[in-house]
Amino acid sequence: MKAEIKCPSCARWVSNEGTHCPHCGSVLDRNVLLKEERAKRAVPETPKKKSRIELFLDRTENSDKPFVILFRKVVAFFWAIYMAVLAFIVWLVTLAAG
Ligand SMILES: [Zn+2]
Repeated sequence: MKAEIKCPSCARWVSNEGTHCPHCGSVLDRNVLLKEERAKRAVPETPKKKSRIELFLDRTENSDKPFVILFRKVVAFFWAIYMAVLAFIVWLVTLAAG
């Protein structure tokens, strides 16, 4: 059955015969969408967006500039403290919530 459906992502009219939008690559078929989402969830990688600090640490990981290396160490140090405090707060909230 050939019909035109509106892509939920780019709002263009596309044939419903394909499983993906030819314009933006979005999944059109609900079954495929569900399957892909399940596959995504199976991946152990965390889906949350990286913060600027994490991106900075990633970008400077293989730098050979002494200043960048030093700066990266300082940032990584404070980032570790920040994450530790965050984890502590989460732990406190969990404790308070019972
Ligand atoms: Zn599209």
